[in-house]
Amino acid sequence: VNAEIICVGTELLLGDVVNTNSSYISKELSKLGINVYFTTVVGDNVARLEACLNLARTRSDIIITTGGLGPTVDDLTKETVAEILGIQMVLDEKALEMMTSFFDKLGRPMSPNNRKQAFVPEGSVVLYNDLGTAPGCMIMHEEKTYIILPGPPREMRHLFEKYVYPYYSKLSNEIIVSHVMRVMGIGESSMEAKVKDLIDAYENPTIAPYAVSGESYLRITAKAHSKGEADKLIIPVLDKLKERLGISVYGIDIPAIEHCVFNCLNLSEKKIAFAESCTGGLLAKRMTDIPGSSEVFNMGLVTYSNEAKMKLLGVKKDTLDKFGAVSYETAKEMVLGLSHVSGADICVSVTGIAGPGGGTEEKPVGLAYIGVYDGRRLWIKRSFWPKEREQVRLFTANMAFDMVRKMLITAR
Ligand code: ATP
Repeated sequence: VNAEIICVGTELLLGDVVNTNSSYISKELSKLGINVYFTTVVGDNVARLEACLNLARTRSDIIITTGGLGPTVDDLTKETVAEILGIQMVLDEKALEMMTSFFDKLGRPMSPNNRKQAFVPEGSVVLYNDLGTAPGCMIMHEEKTYIILPGPPREMRHLFEKYVYPYYSKLSNEIIVSHVMRVMGIGESSMEAKVKDLIDAYENPTIAPYAVSGESYLRITAKAHSKGEADKLIIPVLDKLKERLGISVYGIDIPAIEHCVFNCLNLSEKKIAFAESCTGGLLAKRMTDIPGSSEVFNMGLVTYSNEAKMKLLGVKKDTLDKFGAVSYETAKEMVLGLSHVSGADICVSVTGIAGPGGGTEEKPVGLAYIGVYDGRRLWIKRSFWPKEREQVRLFTANMAFDMVRKMLITAR
């Protein structure tokens, strides 16, 4: 079977709202082994929605819509589907009851046009919404299935998880399981070169390389009858990939590198401190985003100006004058100074040029020096990522976390 997604909402067309619903649904359907061949965004316009639906029913088995279930006159998805299928709208008493009690709980009167939301195409399966006012519905018609979901992502996901996923996972005897191996320190093409023969050799699971913000990923995907069976196919491949890529692999299915650093710090019962210039607190922010970070986080200083570098970290004026703020020497004095003031087990310094201005031929935008010191070993690294400001900061922070990770796992 194949599916098609139609997201309804003028706000999506205008670019005011990012279409996260379609990516969520696509990912979930792929886990069920259902291919999504088309995704459309259409405004709140009946004629254009009708055209999309009519086209979808010529080419897809499952048609999923999101949005346009609200109480206002331009919310017309259910009505339009019913119209093209020649089905009438009927009041669903349970949906009305749920809506009435939803408003009671909020302590707000229900406006008469909310009643419209409790109408569903006759004969459809109603998808009762515990998180909002608009129920969804599922209509089986001439061997096609129409699934109508609300627009707000939280409500849409709720109904998808409660009704749609369980329905299709029961029907399908195959599931798709993916694991993502995250790799740092080598680019996508070098990573691919190291494992190219494995990528070519495997069909189930498949191995797909891709890259985001200077990080390289390998997605390993297997089709099987159960998750256990899929994992049995995947695990030996993960082992082979790990063997090839060695220390560059920092995790499987983990959200970001700081989680790996957090785990390493936790295991070794060590605390970390940061002195940041161009990353402006990003390292400290990312570390403290993780619940439980107080166990591993000592302090973070944003020493943006030269004065702050001298006053708080003891960087010498001579060093700044002679080598500049973005230099090996400054990164070194920053990290040693930080170790002195913080007493943390592992200290990190970052100084660089995030741009867009401020770069020179000798020190271009994207250049950074990162220092890591564990009280015994001092490691200063030059990093270069000539992209826009946000990307430079993100990449430099990733490099810094990667250096910490490597220092922690090689500690004796
Ligand atoms: P409501 O009862 O809130 O009107 P609805 O089902 O009519 O529900 P819409 O009015 O289409 O939904 O969308 C409500 C809000 O949900 C939008 O303003 C937008 O913020 C969010 N939303 C809608 N569609 C999407 C989408 N495809 N991706 C991400 N967010 C979306």
